[in-house]
Amino acid sequence: MRCNVHQRVCLAQANTLQLPCVAEYFAAPQTLSQLRQRLAQARKAGWPVTVLGGGSNVLLPEFLPGLTVTPAMQQWWLETGENEVHLHVGAGVAWHPLVMEMAARGLWGIENLALIPGHCGAAPIQNIGAYGVELADVLEAVQVMDILSGKLRWLTHAQCEFGYRDSIFKRALANRVVITRLVMRLTRTPAPRLGYGDLAARLGKQPTALEVAQAVSDIRREKLPDPQELANAGSFFKNPLVSAERAERLRGKYPSLPSFPQADGRVKLAAGWLIEQCGLKGRRSGAFGVHERQALVLVHFGGGTRKELLEVAAWVSGEVEATFDVALEPEPRFIG
Ligand SMILES: Cc1cc2nc3c(=O)[nH]c(=O)nc-3n(C[C@H](O)[C@H](O)[C@H](O)COP(=O)(O)OP(=O)(O)OC[C@H]3O[C@@H](n4cnc5c(N)ncnc54)[C@H](O)[C@@H]3O)c2cc1C
Repeated sequence: MRCNVHQRVCLAQANTLQLPCVAEYFAAPQTLSQLRQRLAQARKAGWPVTVLGGGSNVLLPEFLPGLTVTPAMQQWWLETGENEVHLHVGAGVAWHPLVMEMAARGLWGIENLALIPGHCGAAPIQNIGAYGVELADVLEAVQVMDILSGKLRWLTHAQCEFGYRDSIFKRALANRVVITRLVMRLTRTPAPRLGYGDLAARLGKQPTALEVAQAVSDIRREKLPDPQELANAGSFFKNPLVSAERAERLRGKYPSLPSFPQADGRVKLAAGWLIEQCGLKGRRSGAFGVHERQALVLVHFGGGTRKELLEVAAWVSGEVEATFDVALEPEPRFIG
């Protein structure tokens, strides 16, 4: 099996925002040894290395110098205990089909994370989360390859330093490792988590894992634009975290403000609500706009550039800051 390095590869269709981008060199290794070889080649040639998964959470530049590598390890397997099951999965496996496969097998743990686009290798980066569940709830360990040395090592759950849309891979290990495999802990014991949104209202008293995954997918399809039809990167802004006093003051002024107390004492506000209150839902500026059903999502109508997108993002966050004095932070990762 060979893994060629291709030159001048167009990535416009490899990112869900469909931003124009050309990678100087590109490879999609299917095995650890292919990945190690490509990283060694990049080191020898002095190329910078960029890791790209399914491109659903990135803001790509027009030109990506050096080697862009998309891990394409597709293997997954289950290690079954009596009740708990350990799911081992390669970085290149698509996340949503895996969720549906596990739910169909009656394995609980990741069903609320259905229909999140992207590859498994990217899931720990921002500790993907939805409908009251985060990857960190089930993740046991992450295997990584060091970009400079090609060495493999395992990180435990604690070493991943997970937080809200955050992990060590965004901080100390940013641009230093390629995630190659995950191990997740699933269970056969029914464990529906239906406390978020209108999930409970859509399901019977004892839903199966598959029914939960399907209900989550249905709700998401109703609320979020499909990147295949309208380019977007999901939530463009993180939900801001503010102090409890600050949230209280804001609630005094805006009694319907949605707010979610966090374990660390801070309060999470709904960025989509803040944007909507500024009258920006459905507003368009050039090639980009705020989605008409979900104000948290910026959409690309085609022909735009990253610079233009960032201008629209600055306009949206500026309006929110002027109205609520709350700063919004972009969720997608800036590449290059
Ligand atoms: C319509 C839509 C809905 C979404 N909904 C949600 C949601 O509900 N919850 C949520 O948390 N996210 C959501 N997202 C964001 C996104 O799907 C997730 O963050 C996903 O995990 C990104 O996966 P990806 O493979 O596309 O990563 P990419 O976008 O390709 O990469 C994201 C980051 O991870 C790095 N990376 C990717 N793979 C690896 C690897 N193997 N090793 C090291 N670094 C790597 C990249 O360098 C980049 O910094 C949504 C996106 C869209 C478009």
